[in-house]
Amino acid sequence: MANSKLKPGSTVDSWCTKCKLVLAHTVETMLDGKITRVHCNTCRGQHAYRATAPGSSKASGGASKSARSKVEKAPKQNDLETLLRGRTAASARPYATTERFAPGEVISHAAFGLGVVTGERDSIKIDVQFADGPKVLMHGR
Ligand SMILES: [Zn+2]
Repeated sequence: MANSKLKPGSTVDSWCTKCKLVLAHTVETMLDGKITRVHCNTCRGQHAYRATAPGSSKASGGASKSARSKVEKAPKQNDLETLLRGRTAASARPYATTERFAPGEVISHAAFGLGVVTGERDSIKIDVQFADGPKVLMHGR
């Protein structure tokens, strides 16, 4: 960890609670090799060390990785419309894990709404295209 080189007086990037930005701070106090208090080089405000902006709760280790997990959400709205063409919601079967569904069937899911089975992965999983994207569901359990 880069923290091992830090000591009171070192400059470190921290979230400033007053400036509401990640800015250069000076380490005030440390405990067990971890920065506890810092002061902001910009506004001089003293506060607890916080590596990242509030809300990004996962990054608490002080590692400054830019691994902002990107949610891959393909806009596949048109696919469902194409798949549903010529079909009605009335032909949809309510989804339940105990039921079995074949590719091409229209299902209605309590949470995801109307969907079309696009494929079968193995005997217990099906790929279903919903309005907000493809999902893998269990069936035949
Ligand atoms: Zn500040």
